[in-house]
Amino acid sequence: MYIDKETIKRDFKKKLTSMFAEEVQDASPLHQYQALGALVKEYASENWMKTRKQYTEKKEKQVYYFSMEFLIGRLLMSNLINLGIKDECQRALKDLGIDLGELEEVEVDAGLGNGGLGRLAACFLDSMASLGIPGHGCGIRYNYGLFEQKIVDGYQVEIPDNWLRDGNVWETRKEDKAVEVRFGGYVETSFDNNKLTFHHRNYEPIIAVPYDIPIVGYHNNTVNTLRLWSAEPVGREFDFSSFSKGEYTKAVEYKSWVESISQVLYPDDSREEGRILRLKQQYFFVSAGIQSIIRRFKKLGVAIQRFDEYIAIHINDTHPAVAVAELMRILVDDEGLSWDEAWRITTNTIAYTNHTIMSEALEKWPIDMFRKILPRIYMIVEEINRRFVEELSARYPGDEERIRNMAIIGYGNIRMAHLAIVGSHSVNGVAKLHTEILKKQELANFYQYYPNKFNNKTNGITHRRWLIQANPRLASVISSAIGNKWIYVPTDLRRLMGFSKDASFQSKISQVKYNNKVDFSNYVKEHYDVDIDPNSIFDVQVKRLHAYKRQLLNVFHIMDLYNRLKENPDLDIVPRTFIFGAKASPSYYLAKQIIKLINTVADKVNKDTSIKGKLKVVFLENYRVSLAEKIIPATDVSEQISTTTKEASGTGNMKFMMNGAVTIATLDGANIEIRDEVGDDNIVIFGMKDYEVLNYYRNGGYSAMDVYRNDIRLTRIVDSLINGYFNVSYNEFKMIYDSLLYQNDEYFVLKDFDSYVNAQNRINELYKDKAKWQEMCICNIANSGEFSSDHTIIHYSKGIWNTKPSIIL
Ligand SMILES: *Cc1c(COP(=O)(O)O)cnc(C)c1O
Repeated sequence: MYIDKETIKRDFKKKLTSMFAEEVQDASPLHQYQALGALVKEYASENWMKTRKQYTEKKEKQVYYFSMEFLIGRLLMSNLINLGIKDECQRALKDLGIDLGELEEVEVDAGLGNGGLGRLAACFLDSMASLGIPGHGCGIRYNYGLFEQKIVDGYQVEIPDNWLRDGNVWETRKEDKAVEVRFGGYVETSFDNNKLTFHHRNYEPIIAVPYDIPIVGYHNNTVNTLRLWSAEPVGREFDFSSFSKGEYTKAVEYKSWVESISQVLYPDDSREEGRILRLKQQYFFVSAGIQSIIRRFKKLGVAIQRFDEYIAIHINDTHPAVAVAELMRILVDDEGLSWDEAWRITTNTIAYTNHTIMSEALEKWPIDMFRKILPRIYMIVEEINRRFVEELSARYPGDEERIRNMAIIGYGNIRMAHLAIVGSHSVNGVAKLHTEILKKQELANFYQYYPNKFNNKTNGITHRRWLIQANPRLASVISSAIGNKWIYVPTDLRRLMGFSKDASFQSKISQVKYNNKVDFSNYVKEHYDVDIDPNSIFDVQVKRLHAYKRQLLNVFHIMDLYNRLKENPDLDIVPRTFIFGAKASPSYYLAKQIIKLINTVADKVNKDTSIKGKLKVVFLENYRVSLAEKIIPATDVSEQISTTTKEASGTGNMKFMMNGAVTIATLDGANIEIRDEVGDDNIVIFGMKDYEVLNYYRNGGYSAMDVYRNDIRLTRIVDSLINGYFNVSYNEFKMIYDSLLYQNDEYFVLKDFDSYVNAQNRINELYKDKAKWQEMCICNIANSGEFSSDHTIIHYSKGIWNTKPSIIL
């Protein structure tokens, strides 16, 4: 799309007039942002209509990506870039005395996700649209996204994320597309016309209203849709005062019950909470989403028996797994298909991505709870289970234990992963190691039974947001060396390998990093009043706070380095700035103690002038997408140090690599594939191997206490958690201490410590050799194209969905 500067200026002024009756110089930044957003949405609208029309007319197969989370962040810049009007827009605003960069900062992040899983969904939407694949998102329009984090006296404090306070310029409410979702009640069966029929009685109806957000493809006229559902009471405009007293109270209760459903995102990352409201959220958006898909499908005039040729539904983890039963319900109860026909269609339509192997995070629902909330859906799950168990009994006669372990319903629970596997035609893991562990360990029984369902699709990240948008300096230096084909074919970045030893190119890359570090230092100075030195190594670990991600290992290395510096202030190290950013689930006490520990160490280290500024520690408040976009381009060392086997893939690791950081990593998740791409010389690997970890978990034999006793560095560090070394109350870090010594250090922090310290020392030496370091950085950028989500989506499209790009003219 091309729109010239003068047109943008005129249109922008018109928007300010029509929306606020204000002239440019009188409008607040918020109004300027809202007018610009509305204008950009308007520019995208024609293609939005065109895209929808073509999909319908050509009856192209559509993908619906169902996800409880979409961690979108901001949309202004990415929409301007994808529409191809960023530069003109910047110039237009400049003429009007407005800085586009300042308006960008006005936009509140759409934080409708916890971390990697939600961000993956957002990257996939961008890639599907940019590849011209007819693919849409389906999720929940939470009134409150992930909490805002404040650090007060070193502790995390959670503040509600009222992200809709000033409205959302990107969404369109589609009241005419609302559908009804039913909860509770009971099911009556009858024989009508010789057919067993089910009637759902006495249910609580609620209205699901969709809000559509345009998903703009990169320079290709495609605009797909993210449809987010909001829960509203039936009869919204009821006048409550006309009720009698009893009815009035009931009506108010009903209204607040309904509204609770799309009120807030659960702030748990990979620790499921088995809460009733969460199950209601799941069924709510799944039912609404499938109903709206069916409604659109029927307009095509194609027989329902061919549904699976026209529709693919992908479920992001097990959260939307109830889709299996809901699609069965609609096909059997509403469309009148036979069970077998409905089952063929359902399993051909649905595909499932598994995101975790941590068994404590595998979702299950108590039967009683499930049946009460979703009585008809429960009957269907029971029938799916009955037939599945029958199949298993035929295949494994007498092997009761195996059958019990594989059943969908067992030990009083409904196991959502089992429902998802049985009810779909594809089950994928998110990195090679993860998929192998699923096949060989966690889901081995299922892999034996359904070997053809299992496949790997390594995660990816959109290089448009994470390189072109977040790091324009780097994007421009890359294009000046190899042209801009990489923007369309990210693996073309490989051609940078021809420049990895080129001194002049190295110096350009190094200048970009330095400039980004200066920008970030200014940000830290402004927001935290901490001085950090852009000439120091920026060593960054930003991700959710979780024991398995081992922020604790990072802190222990800092404590050790500090101890060494105290003993020898002339220790020959390159000055380092350790940067953390992480939210902890509000009820995850151990994680919160680790945040307090990081801040306590930061306080002590940053105040100590005797170490001559060689060490700084910064904890960034409120880590989120827009903050990730600032820190990642300024990073030298990317910390990817999870306990091997625990991080299914990781995607942060890919963002850093693409921005020219060197990774220090365990051979876990996609770190392995990053190592395979860049080679051992361009990444620093440490720690236990997968088989060692799995062997300890299976057979025991690890003694954290022994490791602690035999390493004087660790004795000193661990003791200092409880011996008054820090100026905190006696029990402040007791939970951390106990988790290491009395719960035997489940994540092998102590075991990997020595190896990690050695790896950090290698980083220090490598960094001193400027040319070598730059060569490593370039090699990382050059090999990051493999991790573009475009690549990932092409594999999903060919291998799972069987969809084709649709060119919008
Ligand atoms: C990419 C991203 C994540 C995932 O990071 P991991 O290191 O893979 O856990 C989490 N949060 C935000 C805001 C992100 O952008």
